[in-house]
Amino acid sequence: MDPKLVEDARQSLETERERIRLVLAGEVEHPRVDHVAQTAAASEVSESQRGQQLREREELHLALIEGALSRMDSGLFGLCQNCGQPIARERLEALAWAQDCIGCHSARRR
Ligand SMILES: [Zn+2]
Repeated sequence: MDPKLVEDARQSLETERERIRLVLAGEVEHPRVDHVAQTAAASEVSESQRGQQLREREELHLALIEGALSRMDSGLFGLCQNCGQPIARERLEALAWAQDCIGCHSARRR
């Protein structure tokens, strides 16, 4: 594993972890993409539902990031958790928290 790649990945993981912590702490507003399209009557329920969904997604993402950071500490970073093969560099550069190689990932989606 290229130390430069690991270092870059660690930095992006830590940045992302910090962002999610702020979001979960309520210090950063969630982006509200379709706010304008909503009617006033429907907005209260769906705002909180969507807030909940976003929270769950962020928590899931945070767990992935924590997992990647702990694999980094145990020297397993960049290895597929399913088949043990190294994950492609391009995939790690795009998704530092990826825990499976592209082969296993696409096999699971089928
Ligand atoms: Zn794999």
